[in-house]
Amino acid sequence: MQVINDLQEMQHLALDWRSRSDKIVLVPTMGYFHQGHLSLMAYGRSRGEHLVVSIFVNPTQFGPQEDLDRYPRDFKRDCQLAQDAGVDVIFAPAADQMYPPGYQTFATVEQVTKGLCGASRPTHFRGVATVVLKLLNLVQPQVAVFGEKDYQQLITLQRLAADLNLPVEVVGRPLVREPDGLALSSRNVFLSPEERQAALTLSQALFKARELAGRGERTRADIFAGLQPLFESAPLLSLDYLALIDCQTLKEIAEIPGQARLAVAARVGRTRLIDNILLEVP
Ligand code: AMP
Repeated sequence: MQVINDLQEMQHLALDWRSRSDKIVLVPTMGYFHQGHLSLMAYGRSRGEHLVVSIFVNPTQFGPQEDLDRYPRDFKRDCQLAQDAGVDVIFAPAADQMYPPGYQTFATVEQVTKGLCGASRPTHFRGVATVVLKLLNLVQPQVAVFGEKDYQQLITLQRLAADLNLPVEVVGRPLVREPDGLALSSRNVFLSPEERQAALTLSQALFKARELAGRGERTRADIFAGLQPLFESAPLLSLDYLALIDCQTLKEIAEIPGQARLAVAARVGRTRLIDNILLEVP
């Protein structure tokens, strides 16, 4: 496995692969790998000849009061895990190469980024769309792989690719959970044992909602009423949003037409967690 930090070196290598019509797969990450990341790499490995995993804690997607400085990092461990997963290249650019002095170009996806996480993190998806567009230009993949864990991010990037006619397939892969249901996240290391317990309420609420929808409950009012006691019994959890949304437009809906997503975000102590699940009514 090769580690590349330099932008030009990465792009030259990618263009050389492309000149031979090789298939390139990119898995963009911020590092501090867990099984969720590894599941994307395993899938990516099966989709092309060259598997590139980027590790870049992207400053433009963090707000001024957010956790950019304390975001967990362990580059050595990540390299070992990536090597074991069959990754060909770790691309780890430096922030001052990605955004040199004078940098001023950003990509904005308009509608799907307004609500949910976009409401409390107004510059987040502009940073995500921009960095992913840059990574696509640098790595030239035919396939880019993302997790449904960040569902709004996935839909945003699928819109970006469709709207700008990018020659890349943006693939969403299933969310990976701990055995007790907690969605895997690099930020879970910040949770104290009490906070981790409180955080479990999120997945418990989503599972309960899936069960209610499976039994034919289709209105937001009925489903949310069924979840209320769970949230009331978790005082350490401060809910940012709980939203029943259309799977593609991400607009809030009052009734499940057949399928919908239930998305949740909450703060536990200083840590912000997100989760979501597919709801299907019979
Ligand atoms: P991150 O390093 O947190 O920016 O995540 C990099 C990629 O891994 C994104 O596409 C995420 O959606 C995905 N990812 C993060 N957590 C999970 C998870 N628990 N299951 C599946 N994919 C995940």
